[in-house]
Amino acid sequence: MPIHEQSLIRPENLKTNEEMVIDGVDVSGHWSTFIESRVVSDYNEALQDEIAALPGGENIHRCWQCGSCTNSCTVNALDPEFNPRHWIYLIRMGFEDELVRDKDLIWSCVSCNKCTYACPRDVFPEGVMKATAHWLELKGYTPKSLSTEFDEEFSSQVFRTGKIEDGRVMMGFFKRTGQSLFQPWLVAMVKRMFRGLPLGWLMKMGLATVFHPRTRGWGRARAAIEEYVAEQEAKNRAAVLGSSADAAE
Ligand code: SF4
Ligand code: SF4
Repeated sequence: MPIHEQSLIRPENLKTNEEMVIDGVDVSGHWSTFIESRVVSDYNEALQDEIAALPGGENIHRCWQCGSCTNSCTVNALDPEFNPRHWIYLIRMGFEDELVRDKDLIWSCVSCNKCTYACPRDVFPEGVMKATAHWLELKGYTPKSLSTEFDEEFSSQVFRTGKIEDGRVMMGFFKRTGQSLFQPWLVAMVKRMFRGLPLGWLMKMGLATVFHPRTRGWGRARAAIEEYVAEQEAKNRAAVLGSSADAAE
């Protein structure tokens, strides 16, 4: 029987007999490739519940492993190792160690949502990818991803002023992540904006970047939003880290 999705099998688990004859038939090399059997004893039985407790992961239990998400995935088309179906399988089975082996890949979902439209079970695989990346951060397996850094910068600007000014969000994001403001693609984009946008609009953007306008009467809304976000973050930490999160607070 052919081995489907052989890329998912770790090379160290594949065994090939260079010389093997069975009932007089030479099955050496490729013909005698086997998958090493293994015993898994370190399940995280709560793994699915931990992911389901984070925003986006709620419907993971609905997955029936049809593979439509992976087949339609933008990133999978470029890198076959990026495989949402496989990660959902690992989560549902509780294979935490196996999942963590792909920690440097999972965050690279580009949120195009093609998988969301392809999924026949309304699992929202894009949300599951987000929840899984968030889980990896909360568990300390990965540092904050660039996506999380961007979200935090975006939110902090809303909290402060009740408004969003794209230029300031980008500047704040680059500062947080230690990146130069003068990246070739950004310089090219700004040049195009200067050539293509009306002068009045450009002046408005420039003034907003310098003077940080605020939404009138924002104070009360700000307090309510900050309280809600803090509650949600505490809830997420508690769902993933349990009693250790409570103790740390
Ligand atoms: S949202 Fe992410 S997982 Fe879904 S198709 Fe796009 S890149 Fe792939
Ligand atoms: S498309 Fe939906 S049901 Fe199918 S494997 Fe992906 S998440 Fe599961």
